Amino acid sequence: MMKIAISSCLLGLPCRYDGKVVPVSSELQALFDDSHSEIIAFCPEFATFKSSPRLPIRLAALPEFAKEYRIEFHDGLSVPEQLEKECKMATKSILSFTPDMVILKDGSPVCGTTKVDVAGVWKEGQGLLAQLLYEAGFTTKNEENFSED
Ligand code: SF4
Repeated sequence: MMKIAISSCLLGLPCRYDGKVVPVSSELQALFDDSHSEIIAFCPEFATFKSSPRLPIRLAALPEFAKEYRIEFHDGLSVPEQLEKECKMATKSILSFTPDMVILKDGSPVCGTTKVDVAGVWKEGQGLLAQLLYEAGFTTKNEENFSED
């Protein structure tokens, strides 16, 4: 049995900023079926804002360390500090779950693993949760590359 920690929106849960529900991909479903997986899911954004849809957010800059991250609304206003706390709590939960694999939704300022919106420009980099997990020693995958080594 494989233990998988995953972004809630990749499980088809209604937590995305745009209010859309995206069904579980056939590739992820096959992974769950084949591995008889035990799963935990998390969404620091929904835990913070408690609504979907909600105003979109992005990184204000792309610093080297998680403690220097700042996430903003698209008008430049900072998001509530609660989002950082929720990311830290999710990191702790994931660490204590000791997953075999962590799969995060790419492109998000929280969950992004390879690309993020930085003040309106897409750049290579990771969201806050992915960065926290990286600093805790975890390799994170996303919905596209989870089957790659
Ligand atoms: Fe929530 Fe992460 Fe999905 Fe954004 S990408 S909706 S923070 S689980």
